[in-house]
Amino acid sequence: MKRIAILGSTGSVGTQTLDVIAAFPDRYSAHSLTANTRVDLLERQIARFRPRMIALADGGRADRLVRGAAGLGSGAGAPSIHTGVEGLIEAVTHPDVDLVISALPGSAGLVPTLKAIEAGKTIGLANKEILVMAGEVVMESARRNGVDILPVDSEHCAVHQCLAGQDPDRIERVILTASGGPFRNSDPAALTRISTTDALNHPTWNMGRKVTIDSATLMNKGFEVIEAHWLFGLPVSKIDVVIHPQSIIHSMVEMVDGSLLAQMGPTDMRIPIQYALSYPERLETPWPRFDITRSWSLTLDPPDEDTFPCLGLAYEASRRGATAPTVLSTADEMAVEAFLDHRIGFTDIPGIIADAMDRHAAAADGSAPVTLESIVAADRWTRAYCGKKLIAG
Ligand code: MG
Repeated sequence: MKRIAILGSTGSVGTQTLDVIAAFPDRYSAHSLTANTRVDLLERQIARFRPRMIALADGGRADRLVRGAAGLGSGAGAPSIHTGVEGLIEAVTHPDVDLVISALPGSAGLVPTLKAIEAGKTIGLANKEILVMAGEVVMESARRNGVDILPVDSEHCAVHQCLAGQDPDRIERVILTASGGPFRNSDPAALTRISTTDALNHPTWNMGRKVTIDSATLMNKGFEVIEAHWLFGLPVSKIDVVIHPQSIIHSMVEMVDGSLLAQMGPTDMRIPIQYALSYPERLETPWPRFDITRSWSLTLDPPDEDTFPCLGLAYEASRRGATAPTVLSTADEMAVEAFLDHRIGFTDIPGIIADAMDRHAAAADGSAPVTLESIVAADRWTRAYCGKKLIAG
């Protein structure tokens, strides 16, 4: 029995992780559930999955949950309830936890995930911002602590599978596929008029709001390039992106002999989640399969980097190195939030990020070593800078 802690149990990956746990009750149990704001859903999850520990990032909401949890049965069966970042850390580092699914979006998951790595927990990583912001620190800590980081992102799960048994020195390049989002065929002028509803309507994947907007701008793919750089130890010059609207090929690896290895399957996040939970075993899927023997058309096209500048910004941040990717990630988080709040337009997003990257580069010492402290400082600088910019309009 693997005991799972979920950072972000009420989000898209969190709820789908619980689907996998429910499908294999003899193999997995939910030891710790953590959430931020969706207390109602968390209460239902507690009633169904009977976790041992609960943590709420926002301590103010805990009182309600304590009262709610009292109705779920008290005494030996009731979960312990923790709050704040300290609470999240307790929930993921508990000695009984075997594997942590890191699925809190944005920078909130960084410190709890690092603490889980230090505690020797296997990580199923769904939060790509953690590697974008702090890839060097995270991977170095994983090496030191002998911890496996298993990608829950569908593209990286695909690459992980393609690379099984391959010599890493014989990789020519990794090719990440992108659906292209809902606006892949739009002309640049039409993009200035699109609404948050249009942008939240992803054609193939069912995901959280932040990652859905990032998919529409192609920033999600940019983050995934940086994520692949850290996970697979490749320079970003060896990581390419191709637009594949059907989302059937989840990604590819080209070897030096010219062979292309591809991983394909249904567009169902429960499959990469199940892969991370069961690795290195494979379990029979309870969900619909993808029948490749039917008639399908698969198309592949290069991305339009002029219409979608966010992809190029991510490559640029990775080339600049140091804390530039932190600024990229945090500025994107702020810009997407402002777009979702109707404070800026869709095409304003890349400009806000590019401006923050340039201003930070001018202010920062690029030769200083990257530490958790310098990352936290860059995150804070970006929040303050973009906050002011977004208010000033
Ligand atoms: Mg992905």
